[in-house]
Amino acid sequence: MKIQSVEPFILHLPLTSDSISDSTHSITHWGVVGAVVTTTDGLKGYGFTGTHAHLASDRLITACIRDCYAPLLIGEDASDTTRLWTRLARHPALQWVGRAGITHLALAAVDVALWDLKAKKAQVPLWSYLGGARTERLEAYNTDIGWLSFSLDELLAGAARAVEEDGFTRIKVKVGHDDPNFDIKRLEAVRKRLGETIRVAIDGNGKWDLPTCQRFCARARDLDIYWFEEPLWYDDIASHAALARNTPIPIALGEQLYSVDAFRSFIAAGAVAYVQPDVTRLGGVTEYIQVADLALAHRLPVVPHAGEMSQVHVHLSYWHPASTVLEYIPWIKDHFAEPANVRDGIFRRPEQPGASTTILAESFERYGKSLN
Ligand SMILES: [Mg+2]
Repeated sequence: MKIQSVEPFILHLPLTSDSISDSTHSITHWGVVGAVVTTTDGLKGYGFTGTHAHLASDRLITACIRDCYAPLLIGEDASDTTRLWTRLARHPALQWVGRAGITHLALAAVDVALWDLKAKKAQVPLWSYLGGARTERLEAYNTDIGWLSFSLDELLAGAARAVEEDGFTRIKVKVGHDDPNFDIKRLEAVRKRLGETIRVAIDGNGKWDLPTCQRFCARARDLDIYWFEEPLWYDDIASHAALARNTPIPIALGEQLYSVDAFRSFIAAGAVAYVQPDVTRLGGVTEYIQVADLALAHRLPVVPHAGEMSQVHVHLSYWHPASTVLEYIPWIKDHFAEPANVRDGIFRRPEQPGASTTILAESFERYGKSLN
């Protein structure tokens, strides 16, 4: 299974609503930026990272894949994922300018493509290739009903529809207004509308400072918040640890962390309760496994962030024993040969060989962007 070619791509896929906002981002498209790796025996592996469809920075990722990584991969055995990961991530000149950011997003895309190839070669879905399913039912939680840009009426209607029509028992609501009392009122209305049994998590996307979070958590105490995700600046371990000591609401984070070392530091500080690795920001499946194993060793639950909109994480969550539930956002699923599908609040287990990353030819034609 020698690597014959590595072809980068950029897709800008429209969201299922016109636009959405959280406390720090407003987007209209999801960027799917990655590579197709073809082997001498004719297999094609697909891997990608997730972006906010900003073409100039997307082209930095594809340039890294094309100019830095592809020459290190051509002619190598695609099944040597650990060796090739180390070759790319620990290349002295690339390590000097990388270890996070653009080079790591590019690494994620390449590594996922190699794991897709390995599972396709074995003719089994990735969860089976990795060691088999830990569960028959992977529960989904719905984030797509809870954007900050939704009016209260839209939020309540979406939450009710998710629970009463679509069968979700878990949702996530974005918070982070300039006045946190505004968020409290929205959450009180959601809790009143859905009742006591639905699990409601919240996500601040790193906007607030520590005193704001402390005041907010004191007021939210009786709302049975399942977790508070990214309450503070993404890299601020000390403030997350201080907040965790100060509130009974569990802290969740990890979608903006690039390495197993970063997760180790947050865990060691007691700054995180729900570990949220993202296979598209860590260096792919190879590094995701390291983080999930680290969480397991600390008996912390893993709840992946769906940067790849759950195409790969559905495999990893069906397999890895530290996994619990998985985020569901339906923006890009219909561009894949085997879409991430949820029925009655449960992710359907993928059954096709590979990592569910094979993108439809018509999506490349319609939404592909020039690399230059
Ligand atoms: Mg989040």
